Amino acid sequence: MKATEIKKIACIGSGVIGASWATNFIMKGYPVNVYDIKQEQLELAKSNIDNNLKFLFEEKILTAEEVEKAKSLVNYTTSMKEAVSDVQFIQESGPERYEIKHAILDELEKYTSPETIYASSTSGLLITEIAKNAKHPERCIGAHPYNPPHLIPLVELSKGEKSSEEAVKTASDFFKLLGKEPITLQKEALGFISNRLQVALYREVIELVMRGVCTVEDIDKAVCFGPGLRYGTMGPNLIFQLGGGPHGIKGIMKHIGPSVELWLNDMASWTKVPEEWADIAHEGVVEEMANREPEFGQNNEDLTKFRDRMLIDLLKLHKKL
Ligand code: NAD
Repeated sequence: MKATEIKKIACIGSGVIGASWATNFIMKGYPVNVYDIKQEQLELAKSNIDNNLKFLFEEKILTAEEVEKAKSLVNYTTSMKEAVSDVQFIQESGPERYEIKHAILDELEKYTSPETIYASSTSGLLITEIAKNAKHPERCIGAHPYNPPHLIPLVELSKGEKSSEEAVKTASDFFKLLGKEPITLQKEALGFISNRLQVALYREVIELVMRGVCTVEDIDKAVCFGPGLRYGTMGPNLIFQLGGGPHGIKGIMKHIGPSVELWLNDMASWTKVPEEWADIAHEGVVEEMANREPEFGQNNEDLTKFRDRMLIDLLKLHKKL
């Protein structure tokens, strides 16, 4: 199947990620069946999707007509048969547990044609394991978004042992049609690429606070006003290319490499998050939120709006919106 043959999509699971994916598909003009096991969850998803569209209208990304058109493209259902029978692409965003992914796949394979692509939003489970009981494992792939998927362009595509090259290629082409930035893992890896990077950084966040080097708030300042600002413009390799001046990335590796080895020896290498961390992090975040200027967001709702407005400005600069 070619990407242009994808005409209709099913979003299986309509929580944080499923509702955002649905927003993405409908804002690009694709009809979507949104499925969940609970009617109340579907009602919540509808309200979240409508809010996402309202926000995109307020930010002048969509016109009033486009919002109405997008709303008309969603069908909410608790029937798996209705959700997947007439679609060519399934974006599964159910709970992050192998046994639930297995049950969902088992159920949906009763009603789909073998060509329909099953793409899991899993944050880092292995596709080989997710698809191990599938009748058609060749159509099963990973398509990991970054929250919120209707704004963040990255999609990490991953293959299981039995995934077909065609399924991955079609998904990659399809996400490009949506204006996303898909990358494909050449090998399976738990946590994929971006989450491994994120967790590597976060281990050192925990280490620095637990050692008493700095506060939770200082960490956020260090990332947001330092490397984070630069990472919003380009990736770490290009950043080092510039850091090396005329000698580029090779120059910087030679220049600071030996000193970095000293730091690496001093950095965290543990693999179990300290039990007390969640409470320490929570306390730090509450204090940090209270210290922010009100216009920058002091609660989750306002912080989300603050984040999404900034993302929109940045995405425009990247010519992604
Ligand atoms: P969530 O808990 O918000 O949503 C999960 C949804 O699945 C709920 O609406 C729930 O009712 C529904 N559900 C439960 N059992 C189901 C079943 N048998 N069939 C269909 N739906 C069922 O979770 P989320 O944060 O949206 O995560 C969904 C997936 O996306 C996970 O695999 C997660 O790892 C991945 N993901 C999450 C994030 C994130 O930041 N939250 C980012 C990227 C990927």
